[in-house]
Amino acid sequence: MDTLRVPKPISGGIFLSYKCNSRCRHCMYACSPRWEADWMRLEDAERVMRNLSEAFRGRYPSGYRQVGVNLGLHLTGGEPFLNPDLLLDLVRMADRLGMPSLFVETNCFWAATDESARESLNQLKEAGLHGILISVNPFILEYVPFERTLRAIRAAREIFQANLMIYQEGFLHQIERLGVRGTIRFEDYLRTAGASSMYYAELLPMGRACYELRHLFPRHPAEDFFCMSCRAELTRPWHIHVDNYCNYMTGYCGGISLGDARRMDEICSGIELDDKPILARLVSDRGIELLYRFAVEEYGYRELRKGYISKCHLCVDIRKHIVEQTDEFVELKPEGFYRNLKAEDAVS
Ligand code: SF4
Ligand code: SF4
Repeated sequence: MDTLRVPKPISGGIFLSYKCNSRCRHCMYACSPRWEADWMRLEDAERVMRNLSEAFRGRYPSGYRQVGVNLGLHLTGGEPFLNPDLLLDLVRMADRLGMPSLFVETNCFWAATDESARESLNQLKEAGLHGILISVNPFILEYVPFERTLRAIRAAREIFQANLMIYQEGFLHQIERLGVRGTIRFEDYLRTAGASSMYYAELLPMGRACYELRHLFPRHPAEDFFCMSCRAELTRPWHIHVDNYCNYMTGYCGGISLGDARRMDEICSGIELDDKPILARLVSDRGIELLYRFAVEEYGYRELRKGYISKCHLCVDIRKHIVEQTDEFVELKPEGFYRNLKAEDAVS
C-alpha cells in the first residue's frame, strides 16, 4: 500500500470560515461573501489547536510572542472579523493553550472609526493576541476603502507595535503615492499605476487568480508542466491551513484535503494513497502528467486552447472539471472551493 509521509506542521493557520466581505481576484482559497457562514466549531477548534500545540512542542521557546508570517498560529479565512465573538473565543483558547506567535490576518473592512478600530484590537490583545497581519493590495482595494486600511494600520501600530505585519508593504506605499480614496476597480488601478505596478506583487498563480488574473501572465500548453510533481508543496510543514471543516491543507493548495485535522496524528503517521487517486498522482514523479491523463481518459477533460498560466492553473482546472462530475474523491474538499473560483459559477 502506498503511503505519503507528511511531516508534523511547524506553523499554520485556522480558518474561521471561507466567508469574506470581499471576493478578491487573487484569492487562493476562493473566499467570497457567497460562501455559507459555516463557522469553525469551538470543539473542533480545540481539538485542532491541541494537535497543533503538540506538533509545535519544542520548536518555540515558552511564551514566544514574536510574530512572523511563517511562525506559530494564525487565525484567518475568509475574513475573521466577520465573526468577532468567535475570533475572541479562538484567541482566548489559543492563549490558554500557550500557542506561539499568535496573530490574526485581516483585510480591515471593520475599521469604520478610529475609536472602534482601537477598541476591537485592544479587546483582542487583552484576550491574548500577540499581533496582526494586515493585507494590503489592489485586489482588496476593490472592496475595502483605503481609509479603513490606513485606520487599522494606525491602531495596530499603537496597540501591537513591532508585532504589526503589513503584507505587502510595497503596495501600501504605491497606493498612498497614487492618492487613492475609497475603493477602486482593478482595471482603473492598473490604468493609473501602470502594468509595472504589479512588479511588487508576490502574486501566486493559484486558486481564483488562475481564472481572474490570467491576462497578467504568459500562457503555456499543458505539456509544459507534465514533468512536475507536487510532493514538495503537499508535504510542506510550514504555513499549513486547517479550514472550518477541519480539512488539513498544505502548500496553499486550496481544495485539496490531506485528511481530518482533528486526527492529525493519522495524517502525520502517513496517509494511505490507495483511496486518494488524485493526491497519489500529484505527489508522484511527473504527477501533473499523470493527473492530466487520468482526467482526459476517465473524465473527458479537454485542454484549454489558450493554455495555462502555471501548473496550479492546470491542476485546479482539472480538479474543478472532476468535481463537477463526481464527489467520489475524498481529497477534493471542500466542494464549495470549486464552486466559488469563477464568478459565473458562484452560488451560495
Ligand atoms: S484574499 Fe483575503 S480578503 Fe480577499 S477574498 Fe480572500 S480571504 Fe477575503
Ligand atoms: S499544482 Fe495543484 S497540488 Fe501542485 S502546488 Fe499547484 S495547486 Fe498544489
